[in-house]
Amino acid sequence: NKQVILRDYVTGFPKETDMYVTTTSINLRVPEDSNGVLLKNLYLSCDPYMRSRMKHSEEPDFVPYTPGSPIVGFGVSKVVDSRHPEYKKGDLVWGYTGWEEYTHLSEPQVLFKIPNTDVPLSYYTGLLGMAGLTAYFGLHDVCSPKKGEYVYISAASGAVGQLVGQFAKSAGCYVVGSAGSKEKVDLLKNKFGFDEAFNYKEENDLDAALKRYFPEGIDIYFENVGGKMLDAVLLNMRAHGRIAVCGMISQYNLEQPEGVTNLMQIIYKRVRLQGFLVFDYFPQYYKFVDAVLPDIKQGKIKYVEDTAEGLESAPAALIGLFSGRNVGKQVVVICRE
Ligand code: NDP
Repeated sequence: NKQVILRDYVTGFPKETDMYVTTTSINLRVPEDSNGVLLKNLYLSCDPYMRSRMKHSEEPDFVPYTPGSPIVGFGVSKVVDSRHPEYKKGDLVWGYTGWEEYTHLSEPQVLFKIPNTDVPLSYYTGLLGMAGLTAYFGLHDVCSPKKGEYVYISAASGAVGQLVGQFAKSAGCYVVGSAGSKEKVDLLKNKFGFDEAFNYKEENDLDAALKRYFPEGIDIYFENVGGKMLDAVLLNMRAHGRIAVCGMISQYNLEQPEGVTNLMQIIYKRVRLQGFLVFDYFPQYYKFVDAVLPDIKQGKIKYVEDTAEGLESAPAALIGLFSGRNVGKQVVVICRE
């Protein structure tokens, strides 16, 4: 059983060598007196929050990984043996699994049966998995978008951002995204249908850039990066604006998070700033699928994945998220069934 192991807790920017690939033996049967399942892993999802699980902390926000053990994350798998009443051999599922070829789950906790196989299975690592759920409820539940409102999305070409933009466009909003390369900006404008997009790395003054794209201010900010970007956005919010704090990737590798100086704007502009975690929306997963699947099948929702081949490529794929190497949702293929 080939596995990706976390070597030790990570400080600062993660490196490929913080993980290594090894092979161990595995029993391909679930013990008879258990409630477990054995998964054959097909696709893995690379997600920024995984960085938070790589660090040691006295008061962790996420349960830390165990050095010397496989990385754990979301993935798409096939059930190859089961003693669990809800899962049977042959079922396709997505949920928490190990970064390895086969994973024993003694008690499956977050494991959804895949509701439709007319779309590529890898979609369940993103569009029809955690990222899609995050984008959908983060926009609709946290921001309540209305027709004609001005929406800004950072890290806009990534797994979550590309979908937030499209959901906001279908809600009738004016949508601008920022991303870190010309290729990504082109995708935003020409593939995902954003009204405007810019490369934040080419802007010396983020406040001025936002004023250029939002002369009348921002109603909704979907926050993916934090730090200086949040500070600049706060200066450009309209009265009664909403900020969905989804993530702050610019802060994940810092030992000391940057300060935000323009928080008083929240008062003057009566802004609602709300964090959220996708886990709270898991009970509504199948409702989300019913809402988006028809548009996916009709090609109305565009989706870009960045695919790395093989478990050996997983460490580089994961750390690539923090330098913007990924173009679209970062997926690792272990086996295409
Ligand atoms: P992406 O697919 O967007 O990949 C990460 C992207 O972030 C990179 O490609 C890069 O794009 C950008 N980035 C990396 N470092 C920086 C930096 N220092 N400053 C600015 N941008 C940076 O990831 P996801 O779509 O999966 O996740 C997006 C955000 O959503 C993350 O913050 C994540 O933690 C959060 N999230 C939160 C969830 C929740 O439950 N609240 C659930 C899922 C995700 P670029 O080239 O444009 O810089």
